[in-house]
Amino acid sequence: MTTENMITPTNLRDAYDSINERIHNAAAKSGRRGSDIIMVAVTKNATPDQIRTLVEMGHADLGESRVQQLAQRAPQLNEFLARKKTLARAAPQSALGVPDNVRWHMIGHLQRNKVKQVAPLVTLIHSVDSLRLAEEVHNFAVRTDRIIDILIQVNASGEEQKFGVAAPAVSHLAEQIDTMMHLRFRGLMTMAPLSDNPEDARPTFARTADIFNDLRKDKIGGPDCNVLSMGMSKDFEIAIEEGANVVRIGTALFGSNPMPEDD
Ligand SMILES: *Cc1c(COP(=O)(O)O)cnc(C)c1O
Repeated sequence: MTTENMITPTNLRDAYDSINERIHNAAAKSGRRGSDIIMVAVTKNATPDQIRTLVEMGHADLGESRVQQLAQRAPQLNEFLARKKTLARAAPQSALGVPDNVRWHMIGHLQRNKVKQVAPLVTLIHSVDSLRLAEEVHNFAVRTDRIIDILIQVNASGEEQKFGVAAPAVSHLAEQIDTMMHLRFRGLMTMAPLSDNPEDARPTFARTADIFNDLRKDKIGGPDCNVLSMGMSKDFEIAIEEGANVVRIGTALFGSNPMPEDD
């Protein structure tokens, strides 16, 4: 573990406060408030201790990109929260500010054969990138009599990215999804190309925001279409300036632990 990147539970609070302040400032630049932006804490490189500490601080939105870790961590954390609640009956102070439930976000590539494992655990799937995947999620929702919230992942950078729907194809897919009664189309997600310069991400974010605004103008998804998930540790301020209302933050919060412990 490289010490320079290590974030311990004691300074997790500082990292969290600092990111929230930066979110607030970026939101102000686009005439919004920090409270208009949801920070999804991406736990793929976080330790279970760090996740529990963050949740005890009152944070409720967590994101995972890997199915196996999600399947392991969601039940672990629910157990932890249930234990906290039991303790709180004896000593109410002990659960002050701890959320009753956390909201998991699936942010990574989702294979169709993993839908039944992932869907029951998450509040929002950010990474729907094909009609076939949307249909699979819809079939699961019908079978289990649920409504599942989803975003379309957009490949807006125009470069060779592994996942995401090409920009010109987004509105057609959104219209198709909008006819699936057990899916709730909530908006778009995108990832900027890797770069050392955060400004390089701006065109990708601006293009995705344009598509998002067009969908809203055309009333695709109706009022539920109100989520624009873009921006990560290196570029979240730019994403917010361009209209993001959900940012997905991993490294800036938890550091870059090389190997997550699975205890
Ligand atoms: C890992 C990941 C993030 C967070 O990345 P950081 O640079 O560590 O903040 C956000 N979104 C997705 C889809 C990811 O896979």
